[in-house]
Amino acid sequence: NTFAEIDLGEALNLNIRRCKYVKPTPVQRHAIPISLAGRDLMVSAQTGSGKTAAFCFPIISGIMRGKFAQPRGYRTVYPLALILSPTRELSMQIHEEAKKFSYQTGVKVVVAYGGAPISQQLRELERGVDILVATPGRLVDLLERAKVSLGMIRYLALDEADRMLDMGFEPQIRKIVEQMDMPPRGVRQTLLFSATFPKEIQRLASDFLSNYIFLAI
Ligand code: AMP
Repeated sequence: NTFAEIDLGEALNLNIRRCKYVKPTPVQRHAIPISLAGRDLMVSAQTGSGKTAAFCFPIISGIMRGKFAQPRGYRTVYPLALILSPTRELSMQIHEEAKKFSYQTGVKVVVAYGGAPISQQLRELERGVDILVATPGRLVDLLERAKVSLGMIRYLALDEADRMLDMGFEPQIRKIVEQMDMPPRGVRQTLLFSATFPKEIQRLASDFLSNYIFLAI
C-alpha cells in the first residue's frame, strides 16, 4: 500500500516521491484506483484528507498517457481537464499542488479566479492549458469572452461542491457543465468531492455523473 505500487506513469510517480508522499491517505487509496478505471465518483472528503491529490493524480496520469487531440485556436484554448473550486484561496492551493505533481510531465496547469485582474490570467491561458483550475464566476466570464472552450474536456473535478452551492454558484456550475455537454462531446469523467451530502448535492450528482460510485470514508 504505497504509491510506488500504483502505476501512475513514471514522471508522476517520481513527482510523488519528490513530494515525499509514500502512503496514500484513505481517500486516495480508494478513489485513485476507481478513477484510474474510468468511473465517475462522488466522494465524501474533508479538508486535510488528501483530496487534492486524489483528484489530481488520475487526471494528470490520464492526460500524460492519453492521446488527446487538442486544437490550438487563434484565441480560444481547449483545456482537457477542469477543476472547479469555490474560492480564490482554494484554487491557488490546488494550482500550486497540481503544478508540483505535473512537473516535467508535459501537462500544463493554469489557474483563473475572480477578485483579481483578468489580464494576467488571459496571458497565461494563451500559452496553452491542459488542466484549468477555476472558480465558477471567473470561468463563466472567460467562456463569455470565448477565451476558453470546454469542448475538449475529458475530466471534470468539483472540489468542495457543497461550499460552491452555499456560495450560490449553482447557476454558474450548471452553465459550465452545459457547455461540456454540447455536441460533439467525447467521454467525460466526473469526480465530485463534498464534505456534506444534502439533497442539492445529490441532485447535482445525478445530473452530472453517470453510473457513479459513492465513496464515504
Ligand atoms: P488536502 O486534503 O488535499 O488539502 O491535503 C492536506 C495535506 O496533506 C496537504 O498538505 C498535502 O500535501 C498532504 N498530503 C496529501 N496526501 C498525502 C500523502 N499521501 N502523504 C503525505 N502527505 C499528504
